[in-house]
Formats: sequence, C-alpha cells, structure tokens
Amino acid sequence: MPVKRQVRMVADLNKCLGCHTCTMACKTMWTDRNKGQMHMYWNNVETRPGKGYPRDWETQGGWFDRQDKSSIPLPGIDEGYGAPWEYNYEEVLKTDGGDASAGVLVPSPNPSGKDAYASNWDEDVGDGIFPNSYYFYLPRICNHCTDPPCVDACPRQAVYKREEDGIVLVDQTRCRGYRYCIKGCPYKKIYYNPEEKIAQKCIFCYPRIEKHQGNFCATQCVGRIHHVGYAEDTNSGVYKLIDKWKVALRLHPEFKTQPNVFYIPPFSPPVYSSSGQLTNRPRIPVEALAKLFGDTPEQTLDQRAQRIEEIFGIIQDERKKAASGEYSELIDILIPHSEADRIQV
Ligand code: SF4
Ligand code: SF4
Ligand code: SF4
Repeated sequence: MPVKRQVRMVADLNKCLGCHTCTMACKTMWTDRNKGQMHMYWNNVETRPGKGYPRDWETQGGWFDRQDKSSIPLPGIDEGYGAPWEYNYEEVLKTDGGDASAGVLVPSPNPSGKDAYASNWDEDVGDGIFPNSYYFYLPRICNHCTDPPCVDACPRQAVYKREEDGIVLVDQTRCRGYRYCIKGCPYKKIYYNPEEKIAQKCIFCYPRIEKHQGNFCATQCVGRIHHVGYAEDTNSGVYKLIDKWKVALRLHPEFKTQPNVFYIPPFSPPVYSSSGQLTNRPRIPVEALAKLFGDTPEQTLDQRAQRIEEIFGIIQDERKKAASGEYSELIDILIPHSEADRIQV
C-alpha cells in the first residue's frame, strides 16, 4: 500500500512508568465516556507478562493467518474489554454527607466472576518468584501498519490508509459495522461501537499531525518515552533509532503487517541466585522479550533474542561513552531535552 510518507513512533520501554496518562489523554480527547465508547481505550498500557487488552488478543489471530475467516473470534465487550466502573469515592473520601466509616473503595458495578475484566485487570501482576519477580509496561496504540489487514478485510473499503502520512482511518460514513476489520487486525486495535453500530480506532491524532503537533498520547507522556516523526526524514529521531542505530523493534512482526510503532526493549536488574548472589542474567528473560519483539516475520525466536542482546549491548556501550563525557548521538536522542527533540512532524 504505497504512501508518500509514513508517520512512525518509537516507545522506549525503559522509561514507561505505567502511569496511564497517555491512555487518559487519548480517552479524554477522543472517546471519553461517549455513547458506545465506554470500553474503548485507543491507547492502553498493559502489564507484561499478562493477558493484555482485549483479553488474550495475541492468540486471536487476524486476516493474515486464516483461510477460514469465520473462525477468527470477536472480543466480547464485557468479557473481552471489560465494562468501566466507578469507585464509591463520595462515600469514602467525603465526610460531609458521606459515610466516613465506609473506609474502603469498592467498585460499582462490582466486576467479579469468571468473565470480569478490564483494560488493566492484571496490572503489576507479572511473573517470576520473589526476589526475581518481574514485569514491565507495554503502551499500545494502532500501529498504522504498512500492510494493514484491517484495510484488506473491509468489504466496503471503509478502512483506508492516508497517502499523505500513512495514518489508517475508518470512514465513518461508509462503515456498516460488519466488524471484519476487528477480525482482520491481529493487534485488536479497532473497536466496535455497539450504539453507533460502526468501527472506531486510533486516528493518530491526525488533526494535530496536520498542524505539526504531536499525537496527544505522546505529547502528554509523563516518562517522555515517545519519539514521533516520518520514516523518510533521515534527521528525525525515529529514523535514527530504527534505521541508523537499529535499537527499536516491532511488536509481533510475525503478524506480517509491518507495524509503524516500534519499541526499545526494557533492561531489567539482575537475577538473584538461590544463595542470594547477583548473577549476570536479566530478570526479564530475553526469551520472553523475544516472544514479543523482533525485526521481521522471518526471524526465529533465537535470532530475535540475539537482536535484543545486541540492542542492550549498543545502548550500554553508548551509555558508558556518555558517562565518560564523550558525545553520544544515541544517548542524546534517548534523553530528549525538549518536545521538539522527540516530536518531529
Ligand atoms: S494495528 Fe490493526 S488496526 Fe492498526 S493498522 Fe494495523 S491492522 Fe489496522
Ligand atoms: S495517537 Fe491520538 S488517537 Fe491514537 S492513541 Fe494516541 S492520542 Fe489516541
Ligand atoms: S504516559 Fe508515558 S510513562 Fe505513563 S504509561 Fe503512558 S507511555 Fe508510560
């Protein structure tokens, strides 16, 4: 699907705090609690390892991997995405008119039972046994893929990729709510609005991009983890991180969609041995990262793990250089001094 230029984003997972400011920035800007959009988080931040949002999205497949498209499941709104709830703030936090003895925040409606779920249901759960337990955060938006199966899946050509910047959009006037696009997207980043009976998704804040402003989730990020720019702009941070320094990887490249959101894999502290000594093994197993991140669909898991080790080596070498007072272009990009250093659209 040729475009004149392609907007890209790199997220440095070493800096994500899991604060969900990005999620709330997008929610407030584009979907809030509007009709039929309650369950939608175009940006979500999931804890890894974890089931993600919607629940178990990684195993649901997409247009690229099935002959029989009808066998691709559609996530249910309550059990897949989860219904939002309110806590009893009034009761617990306000003594004037409330019952201060209530003491405990209780969600209402109470999400319990085997089908209960929410966008960050397993937040901070992770894996491993203390003192070697671990987790990290994975912020996700639509990847505005170079080869987007959501576009191919739509029988009404309602989903399309903009020529001017590669942003993938749903033409709301053409959409009839067939939901083939949701089945088609292996990242499950298109959502169904049951009230409007149409599909809706991340628009990469295109009205802001057109004014050379950054997308909201990136500009509001507390950790300043994002770099945004065009793939063709060889002066941009995204070009240098992805193509020059080669320290950013795609999420699930085996889905064959060529995502345009990239990630710098997270470092982690060393594992303790059974005798309490620090080893040289990272607490997040490289094999676990390799199941998520890579360059191409053809790479084996071993090759992906090697690439991740290589990236850690490159960043560590450059860190040492910077620490000794030498200039490092890579570290200069990774520690942006201003918004203009990381948002270049
Ligand atoms: S992430 Fe999904 S919705 Fe977004 S462009 Fe790719 S296939 Fe389409
Ligand atoms: S790019 Fe814009 S629309 Fe997309 S997730 Fe971020 S804030 Fe939301
Ligand atoms: S705002 Fe930034 S630091 Fe906070 S969760 Fe989102 S990506 Fe992570």
